Amino acid sequence: MDNELSDIIEELRRYLNYLKSIGMEEIPVANFRMQNAECGVEIKNSVNQTSHSYPKIQKPELRIQDSKLTEAKSLEDIQKEMSDCRMCKLWSARKNIVFGSGNPHAKLIFVGEGPGEEEDIQGLPFVGRAGRKLTEIIEKGMKLDRKDVYICNVVKCRPPENREPEIDEVRACKPFLEKQIEIIKPAVIVALGRPATATLLNNKKVTISRIRGIWHEYKLVIKLMPTYHPAYLLRYYTLEHRKQIYEDMKKVVEELNKK
Ligand code: SF4
Repeated sequence: MDNELSDIIEELRRYLNYLKSIGMEEIPVANFRMQNAECGVEIKNSVNQTSHSYPKIQKPELRIQDSKLTEAKSLEDIQKEMSDCRMCKLWSARKNIVFGSGNPHAKLIFVGEGPGEEEDIQGLPFVGRAGRKLTEIIEKGMKLDRKDVYICNVVKCRPPENREPEIDEVRACKPFLEKQIEIIKPAVIVALGRPATATLLNNKKVTISRIRGIWHEYKLVIKLMPTYHPAYLLRYYTLEHRKQIYEDMKKVVEELNKK
């Protein structure tokens, strides 16, 4: 019963997000008589048998999509599932969905908050200025090859003006990220910046400067290291920040060496 109720609430939440994403600001309610069955879905009220008509909305087949996502066995399966995703409003301005890239069996995943302009154009994560900074951290700081790790974001479509993803966008896209992590099964996740850390730890109130460099756990099983987002380093770069991020990555390398 509890499961059934939470399924209903979850589906309702997703449906409301969907209505918002297509620009509807009100919930359709049964307060008008059916004028023309052709233009909507007829619903019989079981109490007084009055017919009502709701505006015809192309509702996404959430259950089907969700169950296919649950069944996904590979990154390709997930990518196929989200190939025309419109589960949140970010779909409307995107040029490309930025799924993720790197080694599908990586021991280490980097998760940022969302694609920027260059990423949107190329359909690849972290390929702009912040991406070059991340590559420098991985290759010079950690002495790893970028192609041996996996890199992705919380939301897969670019938020306008590179703003932080909004709550409804994160909620809509998070199942794809969770499935990516489930399939890759990394030993360590590095959360880049506050939004990624808050999403992965399910805690909206995190302050990155306070929790960076401290080991956390993702779903109680995968070690998670929060650190600064490379874009933050580009904007507010100081020697102290550089030292901190390199200290954080040193801990990550030590942890990977134990595996
Ligand atoms: S950000 Fe995620 S949920 Fe939103 S449209 Fe893009 S792929 Fe779908």
